[in-house]
Amino acid sequence: QKEKLQTASKLPARTADGTQLKLSVNISSVRELDQPLIQDVHGVGLFRTEFLYMDRDAFPTEEEQFEVYRAAAEKLQGKPLVIRTFDIGGDKQLDYFSFLEEEDNPFLGYRAIRICLDQPKLFKTQLRAILRASHYGLIKMMYPMVTSMEELHQANQLLSDCKQELRAEKKLFNEHIQIGVTIEVPAAALIADLLAEEVDFFSIGTNDLVQYTLAVDRMNEKIADLYDPFHPAVLRMLRQVAQAAEEHDLEVSVCGEMAGDERALPLWLALGIHHLSMSMQSVLNLKSILPHLETHRCKRLLPELLKMKTSDEMKKVLQALLLEVQ
Ligand code: PEP
Ligand code: MG
Repeated sequence: QKEKLQTASKLPARTADGTQLKLSVNISSVRELDQPLIQDVHGVGLFRTEFLYMDRDAFPTEEEQFEVYRAAAEKLQGKPLVIRTFDIGGDKQLDYFSFLEEEDNPFLGYRAIRICLDQPKLFKTQLRAILRASHYGLIKMMYPMVTSMEELHQANQLLSDCKQELRAEKKLFNEHIQIGVTIEVPAAALIADLLAEEVDFFSIGTNDLVQYTLAVDRMNEKIADLYDPFHPAVLRMLRQVAQAAEEHDLEVSVCGEMAGDERALPLWLALGIHHLSMSMQSVLNLKSILPHLETHRCKRLLPELLKMKTSDEMKKVLQALLLEVQ
């Protein structure tokens, strides 16, 4: 079994007709970087930092965070590490954070970048820690749950304040650190062309994008069958983001569960999305399928997929394509 994994891990992430993909992993702790298979991935496409804030009784200090981010960057030895600033609220609650009150609609409430902008001191602690760690590897940073240009501007203003402070303190950091946004709210997908002018990359968070596009609470089991990544509305959202990215020559990746779903692989190829971030298990699975797929065939399929009226129809076509090549 171990040998089989290692063999899959060594496969190039390339289609039969030569499209090179970047397959990265999602992590929520530095420990996950110790597994040997990490050598064969492109990098870390999503570091969920909120887990650093959980299971403790106070916020981590700048120094504590800096050590964690630096360790992660160093372990990756120059491979890219995308750090997402903290995404608490929604389903992720903290006992010691008194600002988080019970809400009727936590997923539509005080969450992620909204908390960060409302609590700039807290946010700046993290921004400073990430900036300082950026001196030790290829760190990129992204903001979660952005819904407007104003939020991006405010976050970037705080970032630029932090840079100014660090310069004055003569602390080292990468002046050119790349900044991206998570596209996970329909509003962000719809203004992707505007966002694209002011960021360095997009990362599509399909877990939330599906939830918000379909108005289906991702935690509610009663409506779990309505949570459908292959709903035609989701495909249209994805296409809009992919097009905006292409027009602005912007790197776009996918970091939600859907990135690792083999049925979606032909979709990414059709949309021209070539960077996917997922669990290690999914990386190995996709690496074993990719050499059997052809990008030009997937692209030819796109107009047909976009015309489909139901998710069942879409899944059937995608499944048939996979069966054919396996
Ligand atoms: C997402 O929303 O797709 C995502 C990657 O983030 P999370 O699951 O942490 O909300
Ligand atoms: Mg999300």
